[in-house]
Amino acid sequence: MTKIGILALQGAVREHANAIKKCGVEAVAVKSAEDLQKIDGLILPGGESTTMRRLIDTYDMLKPLKRFISMDRPVFGTCAGLILLARSIEGYDGCHIGMMDIVVQRNSYGRQINSFEANLDIKGIGKAFPGVFIRAPHIAEVGEGVDVICEHEGRIVMARQDNLLGCAFHPELTDDTRVMLYFVKMVRESVATRNKS
Ligand code: GLN
Repeated sequence: MTKIGILALQGAVREHANAIKKCGVEAVAVKSAEDLQKIDGLILPGGESTTMRRLIDTYDMLKPLKRFISMDRPVFGTCAGLILLARSIEGYDGCHIGMMDIVVQRNSYGRQINSFEANLDIKGIGKAFPGVFIRAPHIAEVGEGVDVICEHEGRIVMARQDNLLGCAFHPELTDDTRVMLYFVKMVRESVATRNKS
């Protein structure tokens, strides 16, 4: 059975596990480099990117996470997870995992609208997806190899670069499974390619 891991150091882990199970896939909590060997794809959940980074360092996981991505395994960063993937973060020196060719801005919706819901049209996924935004970032710039798959009011909120998928909202907090199923499909395709070679 296909196994999707959720980086379980901090953040919306249980919600993602439930959403993954609903898609008929096994969910595995990832807490160490060894856990990465047991999974076919990984979700970096929402939470607080700076706290998550601190824990990634504490558990010595930065290099193993980069290696996992270099091996073409699919990784889906949601909200704080998107920030972890970005090559650059506005107003911050350096990056975290830094392997997706995007620049993100954190907390880009200001204090007045800390959280909101918006209907999103997502390329390859469908229309009117209920996007839940919580102190969300947005993607300010993308590199050449990055496919923008969703914009909301002029801001990029979802993109894909090969095996990397990232969104600014929380797909695990709605009953609509379309975004999760899209990632599950990426993971299944990657497993099929691996088995062929
Ligand atoms: N504001 C958080 C950060 O900068 C992200 C919020 C979230 O993941 N819901 O890491």
